[in-house]
Parts: sequence; structure tokens; C-alpha cells
Amino acid sequence: MTNPFLKDPTARPKDLPVLIIGGGLAGLVLGIMLDEAGIDYHILEQASALRPLGTSITLHPVIMDIMDQLGLLEDMCKMSKPLRGITVLSSGGRRKGRIDARSKKRKPDLHEFLLKRIPARKLTMGKRVIDISETQSEVTVTCMDETTYVGQLVIGADGAYSSTRQIMYRKLAERGLLPESDKNPLYFDKQCVVGITSPLDPSKYPVLRDDSCEVKVILGKDQHTSMWILPLQGNRMAWCVGGPDPHVLYHHDDSSSGYSSSNTSNSSHSRRGRDWYPETVVEICEDVRNFKSPYGGSVMDLIAATPKGLVSKVLLEEKLFHTWYHGRVVLVGDACHKIVPFFGQGASQAILDCACLVNMLHEMRTGSQAEMTSIFQNYVEMRAETARIASDSSREFADLIYDQGFKANIARNIVLRFTPTWLLRMITGTTNSDRPTLHYLPLPKDYRSNKRSSAA
Ligand SMILES: Cc1cc2nc3c(=O)[nH]c(=O)nc-3n(C[C@H](O)[C@H](O)[C@H](O)COP(=O)(O)OP(=O)(O)OC[C@H]3O[C@@H](n4cnc5c(N)ncnc54)[C@H](O)[C@@H]3O)c2cc1C
Repeated sequence: MTNPFLKDPTARPKDLPVLIIGGGLAGLVLGIMLDEAGIDYHILEQASALRPLGTSITLHPVIMDIMDQLGLLEDMCKMSKPLRGITVLSSGGRRKGRIDARSKKRKPDLHEFLLKRIPARKLTMGKRVIDISETQSEVTVTCMDETTYVGQLVIGADGAYSSTRQIMYRKLAERGLLPESDKNPLYFDKQCVVGITSPLDPSKYPVLRDDSCEVKVILGKDQHTSMWILPLQGNRMAWCVGGPDPHVLYHHDDSSSGYSSSNTSNSSHSRRGRDWYPETVVEICEDVRNFKSPYGGSVMDLIAATPKGLVSKVLLEEKLFHTWYHGRVVLVGDACHKIVPFFGQGASQAILDCACLVNMLHEMRTGSQAEMTSIFQNYVEMRAETARIASDSSREFADLIYDQGFKANIARNIVLRFTPTWLLRMITGTTNSDRPTLHYLPLPKDYRSNKRSSAA
């Protein structure tokens, strides 16, 4: 049908926009980075409006220089509280240990914050991408409403159930080129309910007056459900109640596997969590009714003080995909590495993907297929191993904190009580020796003073 980018027949591939599938965190950050690099882009997002997830996002110190270069850091810091650490408590309130973990905590409106930097004409909502085809010099994306968009390349920033990945993998599988591991579904063994309260009264919760914040993890005794609570800017508290999913361990619907047999599958909405089984949400939260709140009163007071629109049920899936690109299509963020959300890794790894890729696209000369393949190859070489380490350390950390049973208790006690702080910070990845930047922008002012790594 209509082609919003009527192509000039004399144009080179490089003159066409970069098409970004997905207006989540990675898609929006990509847009901002491409804009700063002087590269034309357009974002296609399936949702008709962006809706907050109902959780705060911890950003790892390693991305702070990039945020600074993009002019986002100052405002971001104003809207967030630095995170001091994580205290682990029993359901009766007894302290089991603490991890020193200085990084940044963000308010839930990270998407909204990033969205302000994207000009309206660069983002089209209500565009669910269902097909991608390409020639040697361009790529065409087809949406559910039959509109098509032409670009020089496609970046799939469309999350864990990425359509871009499924379309790419279907083509590779048909040609026998898809590794077996990429055909397997995403793994998950935990579900949780997350929420953010309305503003609370600081005289009732004095912790809200602190400039920094601490995550309090409360472990259930003879049950699997745990809870964490975190004071935020704006007198609000973020909370998460969760535990192992009693129903399923592998997410077996078509959309969760590396690729789907249908290119019009809409099933990614059906079971992946948000507002999924509302009765289970109530059921999970009931499990923590008797937990002692570290801030006085009952933990149920916080759940009751949370507007319905800011409660979401999510599955904590994970999977590191092997194949990140093919032809003129490449993946970033959760689309290629879904990491369990502990220690600020998922979003931060997505931002590092975007920075690495845009650094290379900025150097691109002709936009030929050969050049693009070489860029994508280098991108994967630079990013895949780091993403794997982030994914492994997040999983190990989640197991350490949340696993139940005699052995898990002993392991947790030993690690939390006897491991030196510097070692814990190394294990959890909150040390900051590497400082990636955007090569095409001036370095942050304090880059050489090393100030940020010690303050992060
Ligand atoms: C409860 C929870 C807490 C978390 N906490 C943290 C944290 O503290 N720190 C951290 O670093 N990370 C955290 N994460 C992980 C982090 O949120 C993700 O890693 C990050 O949002 C991934 O961004 P993304 O843009 O790759 O994917 P997404 O945020 O999933 O965005 C994908 C976008 O693509 C769109 N889309 C999908 N399919 C299509 C299609 N076919 N056509 C068009 N658009 C499409 C979707 O609508 C969506 O807007 C958390 C995650 C959860 C669930």
C-alpha cells in the first residue's frame, strides 16, 4: 500500500533511513544516538500508546558516560536516587546479610523521559511489523495494517518475543542455517508482580526523605515467594513480589521460541505477562501477607497503595541467542539477550548494544551489503561475550538471593556474611573499570578524572 518513504531512484542505500522495530528502551535510545550521529531513522512501535511497566529501572554505572554524552545524565540523576546496596531480611525482619552495590536507580518513567528526545515524525505508533524482505541495497518492512517502509537496514529492538528475530530465524531455518540452540524457547522459572505506589506520607515512612536508597529483599520462610521493596524519588516505593512459577518452566507458545512458523502470529501478547491471569496477581501478593515490613506497618499497605495501572505481572525469562544478524537485519537488547532483571543488566546491556552498533554505523562508508555484514560481525564480536557474562552474573545473583532450601540458605549466609565488599562488587558487576563511550561525540568532562567510577 502506501510507502511513507518514497524512494529517490538515485539514492544510495546510505541515504535511506535506519528502520528501528520497537519503541522500547533500546529503540528510543537508538533513535537518540542515531540522531546525534547524523543518521536518519524511523521507529515503528506496535503499541498505540506507551504504558509504564510499573517498576523502577536500575541503570548500571557502566552506561553513565554514554548518558552524559547524550545530554541525558543530569536530568536522569535529578529524577533518580543513588542505590547504596541490598539488604536481605527474613520474613520476620531478621537481617541475613547485605551487599554493597552502588549504581543508579531510576524512576519508572524512563521511557517517557527518553521519548521526549524523539521528534514525533520519527516514531509511528500502532505499527506491528509482520514481515521483512530485502534486496542487495535496501530492506522493506511490512506492518499488520499493510503499510510498508523502506530503509537501508533494520534494527530489531522489539524485545524478548521479537518479531524481527522470528522473521530472520524462519528464513535461516528454511535454509538450514539456524543453530539448534536458537530454535529453543526462552527459559523461565520465576514469575513476579511488580508495582509502584502512589506518593506516600514521609512522616509515616521517613526512609522516603533519604537522598539515596537501599533495596530490602524479604525472603519467605517455608514458601517460595519473596518480596523486594525500594524507596524512590517522589515519595513512592517500588515493590516486587515473586517466586518460582508453579505452572511452567519453559515458555512453550510459538512466540517464545527463537522463531515462529507463522509470520502473523499475534501470540506474543497472549501469555507473556502483563495483566496476565489477574487472579494469580492477587494470589501471589497474598503469599506475603505475613511478611514484616522493614518500614513499619504491613507490606500489604504498599500493595494497597499502588494504583491498578501501575501493577504488572511479568515472567522473568532468560535466553542468550546465538544469531544476532542476517543480511540487512540486526538485533539489539532483549531481542538477542533476555537477561533476568537483577543488578541493572538488561536495560544497560541494551544501551551498550546500541552504542557499539551506532559507533560502527557512524563510520559506515557505502552501506553496501558487504560493508554491513562486516559491521554486524564486528558488533557481535564486541558485544556477545559481555552480554553472556552479564546474563550469567544476573542469573547467579538471582539464585543466590532467591533460592530456597537448606543448601541455598547456607550458601547465601556464607556469601552475604563472609565475602568482602570489593569481591561482591566484582561478582555482581558493579565495579566500573571499563567506560564505553560514543566515539563520535565529545568525551564527558570528567572522563579522565575517573570520578564517575568511584561515585557510581
Ligand atoms: C520487572 C522487570 C524489572 C526490570 N528491572 C530492570 C532493572 O532494574 N535494570 C535493568 O537494566 N533492566 C531491568 N529490566 C529489563 C529491562 O526492562 C529490559 O532489558 C529492557 O527494557 C529491554 O529493552 P528493549 O527495548 O530491548 O525491549 P522492550 O522494552 O521489551 O521493548 C520492545 C518494544 O518493541 C515493541 N514491539 C514488539 N514487537 C513488535 C513488532 N512486531 N512491531 C513493532 N513493535 C514491536 C514492544 O511493544 C516494545 O515497546 C527489568 C525487566 C522487568 C520485566
